[in-house]
Amino acid sequence: MDWLESRDGRLNAEGVCLDEVAERFGTPVYVYSRAAIEGAYGEFARAARGRKVLICYAMKANSNLAVLDLLARAGAGFDIVSGGELQRALAAGADASRVVFSGVGKSAAELRMALDAGVRCFNVESRSELRRLSTIAAAAGRRAPVSLRVNPDVDAGTHPYISTGLRESKFGIAHAEVLEAYREAAGLPGIEVTGIDCHIGSQITELSPFIAALERIIELVERLAADGIALRHVDLGGGLGIDYAGERPPTRTALLEAIFARVDASPAVRGLELMFEFGRSIVGNAGLLLTRVEYLKSNEARNFAVVDAAMNDLMRPALYEAFHRIVPVRQRGTAEARWDVVGPVCESGDWLGRDRALAIEEEDLLAVLSAGAYGMSMSSNYNTRPRAAEVMVDRGAAHLIRERETVESLYALDRRLPD
Ligand SMILES: *Cc1c(COP(=O)(O)O)cnc(C)c1O
Repeated sequence: MDWLESRDGRLNAEGVCLDEVAERFGTPVYVYSRAAIEGAYGEFARAARGRKVLICYAMKANSNLAVLDLLARAGAGFDIVSGGELQRALAAGADASRVVFSGVGKSAAELRMALDAGVRCFNVESRSELRRLSTIAAAAGRRAPVSLRVNPDVDAGTHPYISTGLRESKFGIAHAEVLEAYREAAGLPGIEVTGIDCHIGSQITELSPFIAALERIIELVERLAADGIALRHVDLGGGLGIDYAGERPPTRTALLEAIFARVDASPAVRGLELMFEFGRSIVGNAGLLLTRVEYLKSNEARNFAVVDAAMNDLMRPALYEAFHRIVPVRQRGTAEARWDVVGPVCESGDWLGRDRALAIEEEDLLAVLSAGAYGMSMSSNYNTRPRAAEVMVDRGAAHLIRERETVESLYALDRRLPD
């Protein structure tokens, strides 16, 4: 996270002192770097320059309007997984013709809304969805642009909860059924077959799973062409990993170059448009969660730093035992103790980091790093905790991009029974 630096023993973000951010906006608070987001997207865009490529941002990673707006202005498309995300993307100024609609359970209302908006492609995940979409589109006198999401049966080598390309996964259409599904799609009145897609998982740190999936897609494109079904695009999904704990994933450029090299060697896909759906690798290391130590307490077994952020703010440790580096904002010399950094929520799974060497005192600030992806977007109000504020730092200034929720707003939609 090269947008962080130490100045006078304090952690700064793009030149803004994190002490001041906490003072001004309170804690817990998410802090993102504009330069880091634009830099990550820009690396993909530069690697793809001169080619027919659409880099989509998988907005479920972080769907704040300010983040979407920056990426839309930079030229990104968007990968959405719900009607809500479509509305959000449009509210942020995205162009529907650069939006692809993924997801295993799209409702009829969502399909209708996306058709009306004019999304670029529906990434369809089952034959039932195909038929439902065809009926809806045909009733409107339209043909919906469709790609079928193929399950390439490739092991992404990542956490089971974020592996999506294995045979036993709920995602996509089984490899063995793909040709049949395309034949059916080609005969449906409300469907226009335009592409093929896959997405094999997330936080992938090797090139080989991406290339293995691409091989299987190329094979399918060839067989479809032989069957008279010509495609216009290939969408390889997202999934590129980031450095949370010293992982060394391929760079964004290296990944795209390896894919382009393989694509250029295949006459069947060489001329097709390529699309991608990157989430984590665009925003993950562009954000941190700033939290304050409330209490330090110890028992015979462990030391606990109880902080004011919790699993409802950042769910990844509780959900996947994910590791996030945690660093003090104020450096106090060498650590004498190891701490479990835990939140106030009433669950033993409510921890942000375990067994960390930290030199800290009560009321110190801690930065939980690499929290820009699947942090705020997975947050909840568990324990009636208002969601954190979000701040974007940009060339030395800190901007509030989402207000901290109020407690009243959390029960405003509740209704008591009549007397
Ligand atoms: C979540 C998701 C992505 C993004 O994955 P990252 O690991 O964040 O890049 C892309 N495509 C689909 C279909 C997804 O579900």
